[in-house]
Amino acid sequence: MKISVFGLGYVGCVSAACLAGRGHEVVGVDVNPVKIDLISGGKAPVVEERIGELTAEVVAQGKLRATTDVRQAIADSEVSLICVGTPSAPNGSLSTAYLERVAEEIGEALRDKAERHTVVFRSTMLPGTCLDLLVPILEKSSGLTAGVDFGVAVNPEFLREGSSVKDFFDPPKTVIGQLDAASGDVVAALYEGLPGEVFRVAIPVAEMTKYADNSFHGLKIGFANELGAICRALGLDSHQVIDVFLADRKLNISPAYLRPGFAFGGSCLPKDLRGLVYAAHRADVAVPILSHVLPSNDEHLQRAFDLVAHTGKRKIGLFGLSFKPGTDDLRESPLVELAERLLGKGYDLRIYDANVSLSRLMGANREYIEGRLPHLGQLLAGSIEEVVDHAEVCLIGSADPEVLAALPAGGGRTIIDLVRVPDADRRRTEEGYVGL
Ligand code: NAD
Repeated sequence: MKISVFGLGYVGCVSAACLAGRGHEVVGVDVNPVKIDLISGGKAPVVEERIGELTAEVVAQGKLRATTDVRQAIADSEVSLICVGTPSAPNGSLSTAYLERVAEEIGEALRDKAERHTVVFRSTMLPGTCLDLLVPILEKSSGLTAGVDFGVAVNPEFLREGSSVKDFFDPPKTVIGQLDAASGDVVAALYEGLPGEVFRVAIPVAEMTKYADNSFHGLKIGFANELGAICRALGLDSHQVIDVFLADRKLNISPAYLRPGFAFGGSCLPKDLRGLVYAAHRADVAVPILSHVLPSNDEHLQRAFDLVAHTGKRKIGLFGLSFKPGTDDLRESPLVELAERLLGKGYDLRIYDANVSLSRLMGANREYIEGRLPHLGQLLAGSIEEVVDHAEVCLIGSADPEVLAALPAGGGRTIIDLVRVPDADRRRTEEGYVGL
């Protein structure tokens, strides 16, 4: 199929490269010329396992190209996947500004098109956004009727950053919210042959399924971390407790997100929990459990800060900065927040993260760190040793094997393990080791 992908961020560039990898002819569209240049040169604008090689391959094969020209991209494709960002609005709701803009641009381009085109929204959006806001914009700007002259579908994305290419080819499920059967058929054809169950549902149901996923993931992490904190205070091994809990086959509980570790973050879970709670309040529905997931997460982050404060030491080395291993994404990273709190209290901080090192930073992430976190950018070290030499306290925020190999035991240095490193049981017997 001929596909245009709007928004070449974490979701869009992975979707575009993977669809091209499946043999489709893909054109990526973004307003950011840096991303267009990177992709045109065969480079991925994000750090993700396998995305670099895959992008180079499909660009060389002529299966993927990138442009800022909306009209041409629409003319050259039969279906458009919309993957633009939907960040938190100041009131906790979701900002739909990028979606509105792209819907208007696509609508205008559809005016010139004779063949039926299908517009598929992959961005996360609250139920009602597509039918009540975006379809009217598409219809007004195109002068056409949705479901008659052009197709509309919502196809939420369930990839996890760090393993998103793998997740694309082995999705947990495929959800297709369709305006009409013909629109749904187009989306189903895109993913034909991929594993996982396909659900064809009404558009608002598809929108809501993404919130069910993300709020449950946040809830599980919060639950595990609160259990972990109680266990720590009582001198118990939280992972042993969780192992026994999970072993109950009759409960059939997935271990995903249930290992006590550090606070969650990233560009999705916090914003989607905020958005869902906002939507509940607007609908006059009390949601005390969901309302407390983010405060619980913040409490967990504060516990990590308190562990540092408790050491009485001031020179801190932080290992890990992105919101989870395997990605360079810094948005709402709990490690960024922890670094901010430490800096705010005058701690002398150095940071190392292999995916966020100054030499690897590129594209949007360089802009992000230079524009929003210049004070942290200055603290990024080029090597693990530089940070180890500086630190009286080493904070492990990411279980990078190279970092773990370089962290010597003893020597008066405190090691605070925020993530429960793989060899935590051995390290626990070492002097200066503190687990969360
Ligand atoms: P992102 O911020 O990384 O990328 C969005 C891209 O859209 C940017 O490159 C931006 O320049 C571009 N853009 C903005 N306006 C545009 C326009 N008018 N035309 C073309 N491009 C435009 O966002 P992301 O992390 O990829 O997330 C995209 C959506 O997918 C969000 O709704 C998010 O909630 C959802 N989602 C994200 C993930 C994830 O792991 N990141 C997972 C599932 C769903």
